[in-house]
Amino acid sequence: MHAPIQRYLDTVHESLLDIRGGSTKSPNAVLASQDPNLCGLAMTTSDGFTYTAGDAEVPFAIQSISKVFCYAIALQDRGFAYMDSKIDVEPSGSSFADLSSESGSGRPKNALINIGAIAATGQILPERGRTVFDKILTVMSACAGRELEMDEDVHSQDSQGSAHNRGLTWFLSSWGILEGDPNPAHDDYTKQCAIAVTARDLSVMAATLANLGVNPVTQERVFDTRVVERVLSVMLTCGMYDDSGDWVASVGLPAKSGVGGGIISVLPGQLGLASFSPPLDEHGSSVRGLAAHRQISSDLELHFVRTS
Ligand code: GLN
Repeated sequence: MHAPIQRYLDTVHESLLDIRGGSTKSPNAVLASQDPNLCGLAMTTSDGFTYTAGDAEVPFAIQSISKVFCYAIALQDRGFAYMDSKIDVEPSGSSFADLSSESGSGRPKNALINIGAIAATGQILPERGRTVFDKILTVMSACAGRELEMDEDVHSQDSQGSAHNRGLTWFLSSWGILEGDPNPAHDDYTKQCAIAVTARDLSVMAATLANLGVNPVTQERVFDTRVVERVLSVMLTCGMYDDSGDWVASVGLPAKSGVGGGIISVLPGQLGLASFSPPLDEHGSSVRGLAAHRQISSDLELHFVRTS
């Protein structure tokens, strides 16, 4: 069973190497200097076995893929009714950095665009003796099955260029979506984006979602089933920003991309898939990553509407 899957992943990885296009241009000098040739794939099944191909052990910044896990923590902490009063679950149809919120209330369209993610992180409750960011790091580490760390250089670069996200944060504050001092929500969001992961880590994190909140490698329960159901629903409709419709039509899996070059997708009950390749398209998604998830979904018939 293992050898054919491994061979299949190797074949997909090899076919990705021919794909050019996309750009590593970024205001973040660390992201801009990533080697565009890096390319890694990883798949973790719900019985806890991980397959990798290419540069699956190379660390990079999780960036917006962190939004999925922080939304889950906030839902877990605050419950659905409270979170829904703060953040909607509608696709925004526009870029991840846009001011996509309900007119008259400031409620962000969803938790996977920047404005919604800052709002979600701002709802995470600190626990005794632990900062909010410690908690984020601990929970994300539990999903990955190893201790993750923040990349200080990525964080320092993102912090220097964060005027726009700070603007979104103060907008949320003006509407009372963020109560009290809004700066910690911004700062924790900026830190969560700088957490370093590998494609292997991301595949285990995705498989924790596939396994409805239980890490399939360590068997630790990280999230409640209902929280995962909600998070996967929002990933399906909003995870790829203004490319979400195209993604659902062609791949048909809940997913999330990040400007660090990572993409995860989740087949509930079965597996988590992760890719890493730095050059990005105009939506901020990895070009080779998109091709990889498209191909794997098509070859293995993973689309939620199976046609054959
Ligand atoms: N840190 C980036 C930002 O806040 C994350 C964006 C992304 O990965 N799409 O803009």
